Amino acid sequence: MSATMVAGHLPIETLLAWWLHETDAADTDAVDEHLLRCDACGETLDALVGLADGVRAAFKAGLVGAIASGDFIARLASRGHRVREYRLPCNGGVDCTVAPDDELLVAHLETPLQDVDRLDAVVTLSFAPDVQHRLEDVPFDAQAGEVLWLPKFDLIRNAPAHTAEVTLLSVDADAAHELGRYTFRHQPWPGG
Ligand SMILES: [Zn+2]
Repeated sequence: MSATMVAGHLPIETLLAWWLHETDAADTDAVDEHLLRCDACGETLDALVGLADGVRAAFKAGLVGAIASGDFIARLASRGHRVREYRLPCNGGVDCTVAPDDELLVAHLETPLQDVDRLDAVVTLSFAPDVQHRLEDVPFDAQAGEVLWLPKFDLIRNAPAHTAEVTLLSVDADAAHELGRYTFRHQPWPGG
């Protein structure tokens, strides 16, 4: 972890780590000091803190990533943050990677959401196929017709080639039924 500046501002990864109390003492001081004088990074932090508690818990849980709103992504991009985006049709897959200067990875998972009351997501990773990570009651915008998925970024950045599968489930009192299944075929950045 290093509080290296990108274009004079704090990388999202650093802000996230600071917010989750994962920065060391030196980085914590550097972030504290930067936030005192930089409104732009303060607003980015507000956007992060504005995410639901469930999202924060998901980030802490490590592997599973988080789900965010379109507003949040648009605000980050409008401030010049480098956001890599992939769009997956329902039951689709994508070859994906992370460039060295990317700050955030966002996948748009297209799915019909009009009749969904509660949405869960189940994640499996090819290097631990027997482990299912389940996110319960994840936030979504029924009108958007898509779920915004943020993989755990610093983990993905350092990951070897692997496949991740995300299954979206509509859950009601009686049962859960599958809305869509999405496959990410990840390759490390060449030479990175
Ligand atoms: Zn700043």
